[in-house]
Amino acid sequence: MAPKVVVLGAGVSGLTTALLLARSGDYDITIIAKHMPGDYDIEYASPWAGANYLPVATPGTPSETYERSTWPELAHLAESLPEAGVHFQDTVIYRRAKDVGKATGDWFAELLKEDAWFKDVVPNKFSILPKSELPAGIDGGTAFTSVCFNTALYLPWLTSQCLKHGVTVRRGIVSHVAEAANLHHTGKRADLLVNCTGLASLRLGGVEDAAVYPARGQIVVVRNDPQVMISVSGTDDGSDEATYIMHRAAGGGCILGGCLQKDNWESQPDPNMAVRIMKRCVELCPKLVPEGKGIEALSIVRHSVGLRPMRKGGPRVEREAIRGLPVVHNYGHGGYGYQTSYGAAQAAGRLVRKALGVGAKL
Ligand code: FAD
Repeated sequence: MAPKVVVLGAGVSGLTTALLLARSGDYDITIIAKHMPGDYDIEYASPWAGANYLPVATPGTPSETYERSTWPELAHLAESLPEAGVHFQDTVIYRRAKDVGKATGDWFAELLKEDAWFKDVVPNKFSILPKSELPAGIDGGTAFTSVCFNTALYLPWLTSQCLKHGVTVRRGIVSHVAEAANLHHTGKRADLLVNCTGLASLRLGGVEDAAVYPARGQIVVVRNDPQVMISVSGTDDGSDEATYIMHRAAGGGCILGGCLQKDNWESQPDPNMAVRIMKRCVELCPKLVPEGKGIEALSIVRHSVGLRPMRKGGPRVEREAIRGLPVVHNYGHGGYGYQTSYGAAQAAGRLVRKALGVGAKL
């Protein structure tokens, strides 16, 4: 009989981990989660993400491995599976020298390097922009090909893939992580639990990881779509604000961002910040609106706020025993949970295989 596994959490981390385990055919899997694709809630980070692939990991860390191993999977989705809602997009990253040492400059630190570690990972020749192509106030820039997810399509697609591979998906709320083992669809206790609860790992009984904290992101989703992906390392409006634009696949709209506000739990959009975001994006990309128009010409789908599940020391992909139950953690993916999703799920899968002593190579 296949070992019984419960995956707690249905964000991009939980769904990807469940999918990779399910594809191996070696486990009997139930996903349990408070929030599911289709829900929009401040406790659920995944729907709010842009989301694109802009590597930020420090070289030599596990996160670098996760980002590196995730790219080929994303390229496969963009090349061969249009129904997943992921497409290639050329991107430009602009660097301002004055952002070094600020919250957004630190966030962009690896991304801004002219000899970035990922320059051989992404396709279409990572290039350094000549000075003559830089806008006013910009000190440097690089260009490469990324992808952009339409999260409103991608998360349901991941769920459908899990269902196709025999995973049972159920709602449930637990106050202690080990309780989830009793929620396997067979009615029997699970042999192993995978914890993918993101920011909730800060307070979830049995985990209570004090290294976890939120970094608030606010975005505006608009129908205007110049089909560009551009990011700037900072703004003059505040050290935790940045400017970025990306174009979601398959009618998902255009994302205007943003900010990275550490330890800020506010769930509601700040109207003043929304205006700053829109102004900065129109200034950066005048093509967003008809010539001579300003932010009043933006057709707004929604103002959104999400909390990135950050973790001091980086994501936690580890195994431990809690109340005698083997638990594999996969959480703390901050502002990079999509771009680490496959690499981290592969690493979690190897831990599951080791703990249970079964399973194909992931
Ligand atoms: P979540 O999506 O938060 O999922 C947690 C799951 O656990 C949910 O299903 C929840 O219901 C469940 N859960 C929690 N507690 C319990 C409980 N007690 N009982 C039952 N279920 C529970 N990443 C990128 O790679 N690229 C980007 O461009 C990008 N842009 C972003 C922009 C913004 C504005 C934000 C907010 C984030 C962005 N991110 C981006 C980061 C990315 O969204 C996150 O890293 C990722 O979504 C985290 O996924 P997760 O599955 O770990 O957590």
